[in-house]
Amino acid sequence: MTKGNINVSVENIFPLIKKFLYSDHEIFLRELISNATDATLKLKHLTNIGEANVDYGTPQIEVKIDKEGKKLHIIDQGIGMTGEEVEKYINQVAFSGAEEFLEKYKDSAKDAGIIGHFGLGFYSAFMVAEKVEIITKSYKDEPAVRWICDGSPEYSIEETDKATRGTEIILHIAEDSTEFLEESRIRELLLKYNKFMPVPIKFGTKTETLPLPEDAAEDAKPETKEVDNIINNPTPAWTKAPSELKDEDYKNFYRELYPMQFEDPLFHIHLNVDYPFNLTGILFFPKLGNNLNIEKDKIQLYQNQVFVTDEVKGIVPDFLMLLRGVIDSPDIPLNVSRSYLQADGAVKKISSYITKKVGDKMASLINENREDFEKKWNDIKIVIEYGMISEDKFYDKSDKFALYPNVDGKYFLWSELEEKIKANQTDKDGNLVILYASDEHDQHSYVQAAKDKGYEVLLLDSPIVPHLIQKLEGSKEKIQFARVDADHINNLIRKDEPVISKLNEEEKETLKKTVEEGISDAKFTVQLEDLDSSDAPFIITQPEFMRRMKDM
Ligand code: ADP
Ligand code: MG
Repeated sequence: MTKGNINVSVENIFPLIKKFLYSDHEIFLRELISNATDATLKLKHLTNIGEANVDYGTPQIEVKIDKEGKKLHIIDQGIGMTGEEVEKYINQVAFSGAEEFLEKYKDSAKDAGIIGHFGLGFYSAFMVAEKVEIITKSYKDEPAVRWICDGSPEYSIEETDKATRGTEIILHIAEDSTEFLEESRIRELLLKYNKFMPVPIKFGTKTETLPLPEDAAEDAKPETKEVDNIINNPTPAWTKAPSELKDEDYKNFYRELYPMQFEDPLFHIHLNVDYPFNLTGILFFPKLGNNLNIEKDKIQLYQNQVFVTDEVKGIVPDFLMLLRGVIDSPDIPLNVSRSYLQADGAVKKISSYITKKVGDKMASLINENREDFEKKWNDIKIVIEYGMISEDKFYDKSDKFALYPNVDGKYFLWSELEEKIKANQTDKDGNLVILYASDEHDQHSYVQAAKDKGYEVLLLDSPIVPHLIQKLEGSKEKIQFARVDADHINNLIRKDEPVISKLNEEEKETLKKTVEEGISDAKFTVQLEDLDSSDAPFIITQPEFMRRMKDM
């Protein structure tokens, strides 16, 4: 028997990377900025633990377009690389220096926010560049080096002059990728992927107007000066402790996240776990009403402050897609496809954690301020009802916070509702009958009739109510929903017998017949009402199951 190593040559791998590794060519910039960020955070860590003796200063990352030279530069002031390290980290495809770093500084560096993982990110540069240069100087006292590669397995490396610490990556943009020499395109990418990354990113300069001195003459013109244009916020709200933030800070962050949203969110949920996985984030409940669609401004997934995706279908439970906000976890893989994300175990755990957290938050909100919760119910009910239908874990908690409003705007928890109607609204089999209207206006006379009989009538008007009812009936014992215009209402056992109608039996029969003749559909029942107390002299009902068949 012989054993050997399969020899994967770079020659074979390059075209593969170019074609298949990333579905989106644009992510090369995210990868290179992630590396620059890692390099900066590594240096920060080494200075913190006393292993690097350098002036850390206030490092930033710069992105620069050289349109004429057809080049894109990404410059950092991080850890840099020695010649040996370039050979080791760059020339070995799929060897991750980030992983090696985390392994080496296991105990101290786990919270350093290092992004890299698979050792493939750097090569994404070849998706858009025909030639890539690295000019780098390590924080260790060693000569700077220059590495060049044109995408073939051959590269060259030589000593060079570079006075300052850090790395400059120069992409010689390929003919088919010149869009990445456009300022607007690069700005768009920076704002999409890097808006909340932890190291300041400079992209050009901007003019800043200086405030006028107090003793300035009335016609004095304010002075202006050119300052660095920093495109990101390195410390977004979700990276801070909830105790550091006021309500206003959450609202400001919401606006920062969704600049085109002018309406304030109703609630926020600050997520913060470090066991059994790391996760931070902030979720917002927007004002939804009966709207089940959020097409834009969706939940965003981040990994260590790097944007991963906002296509979260299949990744987070459907009902959470109605919320907005960010979820950030180092366990969310960066470099992979959606189908991988959907199947990933860590991602699944994250999503069930969030479901639980949203349930807990709802329970605590209603306990803290029931009145406020009731006021907002109409705008959040769709999320909660959707969650109850689709996630069993959420449903199991929902008795603590799901509200059932009646037609007069009074809100019941399930237990309160049961208590209220158990004496008066049972059928002959002993089931509790929960009467509801789905449209108060259309069903007004039925509502009135039921109220006159002392029944409680709920107003359940969201578009998913038929499913919610099915879920409740399927899981709670001995209950039965009936829309107020269904014939169930006749079968209710009532405590008080109705007042005798003013009509005599004969008159009643005639009236009933007349009305019945007027209705061609035999599936309806005509029921005469007490003329004194009802708006309507008679009501026409339909079996509940018939109506549901039409609704579903
Ligand atoms: P990963 O980031 O997953 O480790 P990459 O392919 O993105 O893999 O990068 C490979 C390695 O090259 C990095 O881990 C790091 O050691 C080194 N490297 C890349 N870019 C830089 C940089 N700007 N400064 C210092 N080292 C870098
Ligand atoms: Mg990387």
